[in-house]
Amino acid sequence: MAPKADLNPNVSGLTPSATVAINERSNALRSEGMDIFKLGLGQSPFPVPDSVVQRLQDCAHEKDYLPVAGLLELRQAVANYHQRRAGVPYTADQVIVGPGSKELMFLLQLVFPGELLLPAPMWVSYEPQAHILGRSATCLHTSADQRWRLQPKQLEEHCKKDPSRPRLLFLTYPNNPTGTSYTADELTELATIARRYNIIVMSDEIYGELDHGGTYRTIASSYPEGTISSSGLSKWCGAGGWRLGTFVVPEQLNTIRDAIVAVASETFTSTSAPIQYAAVRAFEGGDDIDAYLVQSRRILQALGNWIHTRLGQADVMTVAPEGGFYLFADFTAHTESLHARGITTGAELCERLLQETGVAILPGSCFGQGETSLTTRLSYVNFDGAAALASAAGVPEHTELDERWLSQFCNRTLRATERLCAWVQQA
Ligand code: GLU
Repeated sequence: MAPKADLNPNVSGLTPSATVAINERSNALRSEGMDIFKLGLGQSPFPVPDSVVQRLQDCAHEKDYLPVAGLLELRQAVANYHQRRAGVPYTADQVIVGPGSKELMFLLQLVFPGELLLPAPMWVSYEPQAHILGRSATCLHTSADQRWRLQPKQLEEHCKKDPSRPRLLFLTYPNNPTGTSYTADELTELATIARRYNIIVMSDEIYGELDHGGTYRTIASSYPEGTISSSGLSKWCGAGGWRLGTFVVPEQLNTIRDAIVAVASETFTSTSAPIQYAAVRAFEGGDDIDAYLVQSRRILQALGNWIHTRLGQADVMTVAPEGGFYLFADFTAHTESLHARGITTGAELCERLLQETGVAILPGSCFGQGETSLTTRLSYVNFDGAAALASAAGVPEHTELDERWLSQFCNRTLRATERLCAWVQQA
């Protein structure tokens, strides 16, 4: 008789995260010979900057365990980085380095027992992480009319029902999955409410450098004492597979920082040493990284806007993107014809789209929307980022990367969009 594989009820029924699953499924279908357009996983299309790769090569021999909180030199570089962006002084002691900000967010949820507030749509893993830990989450639903931004009033209305309850608010901007962001004034207004109710803000700034206008904004500038800012190499530095994420925690929240470090010491011990040495180069920045980011933003902005316009012509509604590489596409205008084709949920929509066109996207239900919501997330990243960067660098600064350029360098993304439009408009 085999041992009984009973599961902790918190993980029973849990399946691999949708972003990771769609990637593996797309690869499997591709290896079976199907032509797949991978708009599922949100992976940067751009290569890691050369100087960062070079540093990794130079440090490949680094083999010792590093301090749990991270290599001092890296923590100093991360503190300086956030200081430059937030205009708030930080020290190396306030920084924690982990194997991806995803893991650090999980540890934060583990150590802080307050009410978890998640503006929805939200990134795919925040809620499952809560579930794994046996804690509940409160969704604060936002709407396309408000560009998917949490309204200060809405936050206040919620908090004033139980003003003294400890709370943790996750705020992601530029947003995954919606591609929208907050203005500095909007962040200041949210900061006022957060301060009024002593909310801890988990400010997920992993897409901060990919604000299409090139302005890095953070709520930490107006609420430094209550904001934990996260970043990492995965999005703006093209190194998702390197798995390195960072937190900078205000001194006022030292107990949280210490608890995360203690749990980290009992779980992952420390983050890969060579990757940490290489990350110093990325967080120090410099002209080469600035130039890389300028072109990355320019390409993403041109492509995001093109898809937004094209989908709109097919009555698939998105809000114009402001940063990152996602669009949250709403097919509601096609409800009748989709129902007639037997499609009544977001999951069915994505499945049929994948089977019938090879375009892989994710349903809104993975991001906190209802099962019957006909919303979806597109990650517009299926193009050769190295070729696109090299070409964009040769196009004069104020010249738009037009449709002709996009059809040359982001051809498969444009084709995926055209396929999607043709598919939804079928009678
Ligand atoms: N953050 C990315 C996404 O939303 C990638 C992977 C992940 O979810 O960890 O697609």
